[in-house]
Amino acid sequence: MATPISLFWFRRDLRLHDNAGLLAALQSGHPVQPIFIFDTEILDELIDRADARVQFIHESLQRIQEVLAELGATLDVRIGKPIEVFQELTQEYPTRAVYTNEDYEPYARMRDQQVGDWLKSKGISFHSYKDQVVFAKDEVLKDDGKPYTVFTPYSRKWRARLQVDPIRSHPSEKYMDRFHRTALRVLPTLKKMGFEKSLIEFPTNAWDPALIKRYAQQRDLPGVAGTSRLGVHLRFGTISVRELAKQAASWSDSFVNELIWRDFYHTILWHFPKVVHQSFKPEYDSIAWRNNNTEFEAWCTGQTGYPIVDAGMRELNATGFMHNRVRMIVASFLTKHLLIDWRWGEAYFAQKLLDFDLAANNGGWQWAAGSGCDAAPYFRVFNPYLQTQKFDPELKYVRKWVPEFEEFGYPKPIVVHEEARKRCLETYAATLKK
Ligand SMILES: Cc1cc2nc3c(=O)[nH]c(=O)nc-3n(C[C@H](O)[C@H](O)[C@H](O)COP(=O)(O)OP(=O)(O)OC[C@H]3O[C@@H](n4cnc5c(N)ncnc54)[C@H](O)[C@@H]3O)c2cc1C
Repeated sequence: MATPISLFWFRRDLRLHDNAGLLAALQSGHPVQPIFIFDTEILDELIDRADARVQFIHESLQRIQEVLAELGATLDVRIGKPIEVFQELTQEYPTRAVYTNEDYEPYARMRDQQVGDWLKSKGISFHSYKDQVVFAKDEVLKDDGKPYTVFTPYSRKWRARLQVDPIRSHPSEKYMDRFHRTALRVLPTLKKMGFEKSLIEFPTNAWDPALIKRYAQQRDLPGVAGTSRLGVHLRFGTISVRELAKQAASWSDSFVNELIWRDFYHTILWHFPKVVHQSFKPEYDSIAWRNNNTEFEAWCTGQTGYPIVDAGMRELNATGFMHNRVRMIVASFLTKHLLIDWRWGEAYFAQKLLDFDLAANNGGWQWAAGSGCDAAPYFRVFNPYLQTQKFDPELKYVRKWVPEFEEFGYPKPIVVHEEARKRCLETYAATLKK
């Protein structure tokens, strides 16, 4: 009889160290065969054939492969529908168990249920671990056991829980001799998957203590390199959120607060998966959005005549990143000044952001539109000019992305701020005061 194997299924945890599910697999008593599936259900939805996220995943897998190759092991990378890939894999490996880390997105939950059920029907166990957040789904709840829907009390409870349940590491890197030894398998190329290289550059996964210590002072200034740019690494697990949170705790309370926002939105998505399609506050789905295609196009391409908005959209289109302060400004502008449904903006961000994360993106958009669980009230309409004065006073950010903003030829504002603000307040009020 062939030696039984445990499979470890990488997803949004693309690292070999401090990986909860991988550690459990390595301690399962069977050699571990690591796998990754390029899920065609996800790839087929991507519009851009040079999608930088696919390349980012590919490069991260390549790095894992290099380490495994030195150990005489290999990552087995497949392309297809997960359930079908598991039918193949379990034919090829005498699989006793499958280990993975939890994913809280509705599609992932449905997929894991399907895969887990099928494996169980074949007598193979399926084990899933918390890894991508500090506290998950039911770990930070109100005293009555219900989920929080407002951030501040959630964050207080989160911090209280950390006192009694400190972050533990999961040192998978200590058991690297427990991988299944087998011949090296070559990763499928991007081309084989129908993709090509993108021009976007990826930020480093190393974090700078000095930057995090200055975070509270600089985080709101888009013209300064004052935020970590770790979003994409947290998204794909090329860093451990536990390691980051543990270190950052002694450097910056305000940075930890952002990691709590991250957990909060994952918890919201877990308890209220309807937010993917609907406003958290249902009455916001009756707002009479104008949804003007020409204005949407001007917003997407950074041609609204509002320099701070255009700078943000151009930064996004060119780099796959946009500063958080500017994300709030452009999202407010789309949903309030232009009265375009937040789902349009959410979908555009989902297509472009390197750090795109369903939970945080949906949370950010619903916050900006006022429809979310912990939202900016609808009558707070950001004034793009005042936001610029306050957060980009020397126009460093604006000049970088919209150098022609003072020249003839730069578009006139597509809406007049005061008029748009008034129209927004009337439109929102007409629905919400009913
Ligand atoms: C409309 C809108 C859409 C957004 N879409 C996304 C998204 O798709 N993916 C995403 O990770 N963040 C999103 N954010 C949150 C935030 O803008 C980004 O996390 C941040 O700008 C990423 O840059 P950074 O890595 O330098 O973050 P830093 O400021 O250095 O923060 C560190 C990490 O904390 C987390 N974080 C920070 N702010 C938030 C927040 N408000 N909500 C949740 N997590 C946060 C991120 O993982 C981030 O990488 C969105 C915000 C808005 C207003």
